[in-house]
Amino acid sequence: MASLSLLAVLALGFPRAVLGFGHPPVVNSTVDVRVFNVANITTTVPGVLLQPVLHGYDTIHMPDHAFLIEHGTERIMFDLGMRNDPLNFPPSVASFFESGVYSVESFKDITELLTEGGIALESIDTIIWSHSHFDHIGNMAKWPNSTNLVVGPGTNRSLYPEYPDSALQASDFAGHNVTELSFKNTNLTISGLPAIDYFGDQSFYLLNTPGHIMGHITALARVTPSTFVLLGADTCHHAGQLRPRPRFQATYACPAELVAQAKNSISTDYFWSPDSQPHAFDIASRAQPLLSIPDLPNSADANPVAGRVSLDRIAGFDADENYLVVFAHDLSLIDKLPYFPESLSTWKAKGLKEDVVWAFLEAENPAFRFG
Ligand SMILES: [Zn+2]
Repeated sequence: MASLSLLAVLALGFPRAVLGFGHPPVVNSTVDVRVFNVANITTTVPGVLLQPVLHGYDTIHMPDHAFLIEHGTERIMFDLGMRNDPLNFPPSVASFFESGVYSVESFKDITELLTEGGIALESIDTIIWSHSHFDHIGNMAKWPNSTNLVVGPGTNRSLYPEYPDSALQASDFAGHNVTELSFKNTNLTISGLPAIDYFGDQSFYLLNTPGHIMGHITALARVTPSTFVLLGADTCHHAGQLRPRPRFQATYACPAELVAQAKNSISTDYFWSPDSQPHAFDIASRAQPLLSIPDLPNSADANPVAGRVSLDRIAGFDADENYLVVFAHDLSLIDKLPYFPESLSTWKAKGLKEDVVWAFLEAENPAFRFG
């Protein structure tokens, strides 16, 4: 009987992954996902975000993604990008911009991008912060009081100036109804991650992904009955921290011309794999990501061990052809994603994933930093 029911499931077209990977079954409730790149952030301390940092790669550039999620007539935001007046951050953050450790060109706040795009701020019911770092929380003072705010479990809500070192201030919360999530009572797990079914119809899940900072969460958006976008927030800061891995390589073999290019372009002083030769790197036999989450005392990850486990679990989605993983700061995607007003939801039909997953390894891609 067991094999009969298994055949029935396969005949009904359930995704392969649901059989052994804890992924949700096919249902018809979906959301639409549209992505903004709010800012291009440069930092002179890439070593706090990723390791190793090779000679000549002393800075790192990062997009700053924000997501508009539409569920029928209901709209929410997942992250807002950073505010566009960085000197008005609390001193502990503003000092990074004063010293040049972080820098940005002038840019439009997400509230302007939405308004210019015909999306009234009043139409957005709720903002979800993946976490409370400055580059995700926008400028909440620009939002109507009717906009609710959702934050992850344990998000530190101590405020400047009462807490002089705090990165948050009263205007980040004032006037808004704030809900702090708890995953304690959920019995739902997806790819090993505790999950909350946000709308109650399996269209949009919030996932508990600790490590980066207290309260760090990610989201899984069902954009067609069987395909998803995983909003990975800051589970990592570079595609090279996610890839390659064995299951990923089995689904998405590195294109032959890139294997050939990588032989010369990737430094064998810093990277190695079983079939590499001195000065001839072999990507196909590389069984772990090229870059790692740093565990130095100044790591941007508060708990690098937990962060790596969260990333390992996210990698389960990345290896599956029904899931597109988009991090907040993935520079390799910058010329490749369909940004607002286009929708990300048709990514699979358009073959987007095949176009983007190895882009970080192309020597001409802005994210390349391996030579
Ligand atoms: Zn960030």
